[in-house]
Amino acid sequence: TRQVELNHLTPDSRTISLHYSFFPASGAGEEPLLAGVARERSGDLAALLETIQLNLDLEMKQKELSEANARLEQLAITDQITDLYNRHYFFQVSQHFWEEAKRYRLPLVVILMDIDNFKSVNDQHGHLFGDYVLKDASRRMRKNTRKSDILARFGGEELIVLASNTDILTGQVLAERLRLSFGSEPFVMGSSSAMVTISAGISGTELAEFATFDALLDSSDQALYGAKRAGKNCVSTYAGPPR
Ligand code: GH3
Ligand code: MG
Ligand code: MG
Repeated sequence: TRQVELNHLTPDSRTISLHYSFFPASGAGEEPLLAGVARERSGDLAALLETIQLNLDLEMKQKELSEANARLEQLAITDQITDLYNRHYFFQVSQHFWEEAKRYRLPLVVILMDIDNFKSVNDQHGHLFGDYVLKDASRRMRKNTRKSDILARFGGEELIVLASNTDILTGQVLAERLRLSFGSEPFVMGSSSAMVTISAGISGTELAEFATFDALLDSSDQALYGAKRAGKNCVSTYAGPPR
């Protein structure tokens, strides 16, 4: 069978393309005969174009869908007020960092911070101003940390920094820088302005043999409690396990 495409000119001067199939139609020993069938392919082309268009539409829908999914994912891991990671995602990420630190024997530091007297900030300036303080707190945190640090809103007015591959001395410098970034510049929103300070508790894998990430986290909470007891607006380091 031979197949061939032939163009024909119609009486109204259009070119149409016909697809021919030729095949032998005679039996053995008979006069050689050739039969041919022609098929108009313009319909096929229209169908092909339609299929291409449908595929393009589908591709676009899939792209929109994956973008929407990415936005949803982002929303699920982000705290709405501060735009930092939320508590839930913090635990997820920190587990990964914890395993990695253990495996490669890298130091890991946790800085747990709590805004001082935040209740009275709200009481004096209103809840909206309080929200603004949280927003600006995250800006100050970002400005003073590395891209590789994990920043999250741990609770109401509790913020947390997980610094991987960081020794305790470097962590203490970082915590002090964070504390100063709050206390050295007032928070200003419209006509409201307030000095807001934080207390921070810092702990790290160098300070004790922590069995789990939760144990490390708990030690930073103990340190934070120490900072509050010491009069707030200060950084306190985990003192190690009781002997
Ligand atoms: P301390 O120095 O001991 O930490 O005192 P504090 O007043 O900061 O702590 P307390 O636990 O007594 O109060 C925390 C306040 O934080 C009360 C709560 O209304 C406020 N807060 C928690 N989450 C938000 C929030 O999303 N927005 C605002 N504006 N306030 C919040
Ligand atoms: Mg507080
Ligand atoms: Mg608190």
